[in-house]
Amino acid sequence: MLRIRNLKCFYSRIMAVKGVSLSVNPGEIICLIGANGAGKTTLLSAVCGLLADWSGQIDFEKKSIKGLEPPAIVRAGISLVPEGRQIFAPLSVFDNLRLGAYTMYKKKAHAAVQQDLESVMELFPILRQRQRQPAGTLSGGEQQMLAIARALMARPRLLLLDEPSMGLAPMVVEKILEVISLLRSRGLTIVLVEQNALAALEVSDRGYVFETGAVVLQGEAGELLADKDVKRAYLGKD
Ligand code: ATP
Repeated sequence: MLRIRNLKCFYSRIMAVKGVSLSVNPGEIICLIGANGAGKTTLLSAVCGLLADWSGQIDFEKKSIKGLEPPAIVRAGISLVPEGRQIFAPLSVFDNLRLGAYTMYKKKAHAAVQQDLESVMELFPILRQRQRQPAGTLSGGEQQMLAIARALMARPRLLLLDEPSMGLAPMVVEKILEVISLLRSRGLTIVLVEQNALAALEVSDRGYVFETGAVVLQGEAGELLADKDVKRAYLGKD
């Protein structure tokens, strides 16, 4: 579904991603794990059309996304839940969700948007209760749910999640991971970037371990969970 070949990403002269290749099959959850600054967010930015300077090949459903603007990439079926949620704090929960459906309104698919609003509020009932509230007044966990729900409003086939567990209490992280698994069971394909390697590997099919801009290890999630280097470096175990 997503195929990345020899991706190199640059910030001016600095190469932040140094020749990464990876692939995501339909219906999979894959995770990208690794320390701060390893290049995971940069890779997601390139996939979403948010990065000016990269080389290599990124194909989504067998078509290159090179040169596409972010709205075209969203329309093609890729949505990002960005690091730090990036919700529109002064706007209501409801308006944040409607903004997620921007590409749908362009198609004048008003009935579909209404249906999607219902479905995301079913997925996250708290958003229904809070729909008139400014999004900035939500708790961190609720804001993360809103960020996921907003991304779903664009009807993606591939969902990219950047650090959804960041700063959240363990119980809230559990809830978010449950939703991620549920979305996959409904047919969504997911790329999960996480510093919380244990949580990420537990819900993923496969994982890629990043270090300073390169993939240093990849495999089935179960294999990575059992790998002694991964255990030592990322899971805090001997
Ligand atoms: P994090 O979890 O902190 O987001 P990451 O693995 O996602 O880590 P990136 O954010 O992709 O890593 O950062 C990769 C490298 O690129 C780092 O060295 C970082 O300092 C650098 N970098 C990221 N954004 C920029 C930018 N806008 N300008 C210059 N350098 C950047």
